[in-house]
Amino acid sequence: MPLARNVLNLMTLFSAPKGTFDVLPPASSTMLAVREALTAPLRTAGYGYIETPIFEDTALFARGVGESTDVVSKEMYTFTDKGGRSLTLRPELTAGLMRAFIEHKLYAGPLPIKLYTVGSNFRYERPQKGRYRHFTQIDVEALGSDDPALDAEIIALALAAYDNLGLKNFTTQLTSLGDQNCRPAYRDKLQAFLAELELDADTRRRAEINPLRVLDDKRPEVAAQLVDAPVMSAHLCDDCKAHYDAVRQYLTELGLSWQEAPKLVRGLDYYTRTTFEFVHNGLGAQASIGGGGRYDGLSAQLGGPDLSGIGWAIGVDRTLLALEAEDLTPGEGGNVAVFIVPMGQAKSAAVQLTARLRASGIATDLAYGDRGLKGAMKAANRSGARYAIVIGDRDIADGVAQVKNLETGEQDAAPLDALVTTLKEKLA
Ligand code: AMP
Repeated sequence: MPLARNVLNLMTLFSAPKGTFDVLPPASSTMLAVREALTAPLRTAGYGYIETPIFEDTALFARGVGESTDVVSKEMYTFTDKGGRSLTLRPELTAGLMRAFIEHKLYAGPLPIKLYTVGSNFRYERPQKGRYRHFTQIDVEALGSDDPALDAEIIALALAAYDNLGLKNFTTQLTSLGDQNCRPAYRDKLQAFLAELELDADTRRRAEINPLRVLDDKRPEVAAQLVDAPVMSAHLCDDCKAHYDAVRQYLTELGLSWQEAPKLVRGLDYYTRTTFEFVHNGLGAQASIGGGGRYDGLSAQLGGPDLSGIGWAIGVDRTLLALEAEDLTPGEGGNVAVFIVPMGQAKSAAVQLTARLRASGIATDLAYGDRGLKGAMKAANRSGARYAIVIGDRDIADGVAQVKNLETGEQDAAPLDALVTTLKEKLA
């Protein structure tokens, strides 16, 4: 055996890092269809596409997302680059978008500024179904207005996106988390309530640092003690209450429904007022397919003007699982419609024909590798194409190609110069 092959055999095979996965064809076509269905409503509502770097200054996330959150304190992929800077692979998308909004003074134009992006996020989580270390989110933000109609628009856009995909078995959980005027007094009240409970040391510490987070504790022994816990939505100041009432009125007028979720708290610290989550019924523990809310203090917190903002992030990977749970397969196939099989000296003609069909909008592939009729027909069947076009020297001389229906096996000759029209008719 040649040395090189020996060495290769001894090498370890690599696999995707823990908590990550590859998206392969044909399943990847569903992923693309999901991205398209989720972003299409955004474009028709005036949201512009933005891209920001995959890594940012570590301090941006510490300040933006909140040091006491699990995301920042436990889950960030942080590293020092060769220039000695502390950088972090983004664990979420809002902080980076907000940084760009401030850095490029996008607020100088007419407000709100509406943005969306699609991208990778990284969190060092304990991997399980629906929870990964590398995952993709679609993120939308409307910056610079606290108009409650904008809250309703943002929620309606997510629901339109899910509707596009045919998703049904989920609920919209909605609440208001108040603002800097009413939240501190509520926080004190909640802390006083939690101090009376029987909690373990960790939870007690959490109650000190971030008491709202305790409300989210799903452990039965803790949840049972929280039944009568005071909730923010019952302690809103007049302004926050009026805002929340207006949001709900707009949602009602749009014919949308939701569930009041007074104990909803989200994993990131920046939320104020309207806060929501989309929860799927068929996903078990990792049921949240998307969520978001207002973050009226975030711009100022990051050194920008005191402007409000609202947005959401939808998890693409979890939306895929939700589709699977509902037996929905948008974009399934992703296959070519036509597969060309050249025989004899017809390769050049086949290459040109492939280009011609593709240019006319017919998804076409070609049997590469000159492997003979049997192998090429096998490839044609595997490709998922509806028609194979077999073309040999005699066909070229006669100005025809053999068009074979791969489902029925029927085959007939079609004139080459009318092939585009013939195929379009057959495929219609
Ligand atoms: P968050 O950025 O935590 O508000 O999450 C927004 C959405 O992103 C969630 O509703 C999930 O659909 C998705 N998501 C968050 N974390 C993960 C993860 N580790 N793996 C897969 N999806 C996630």
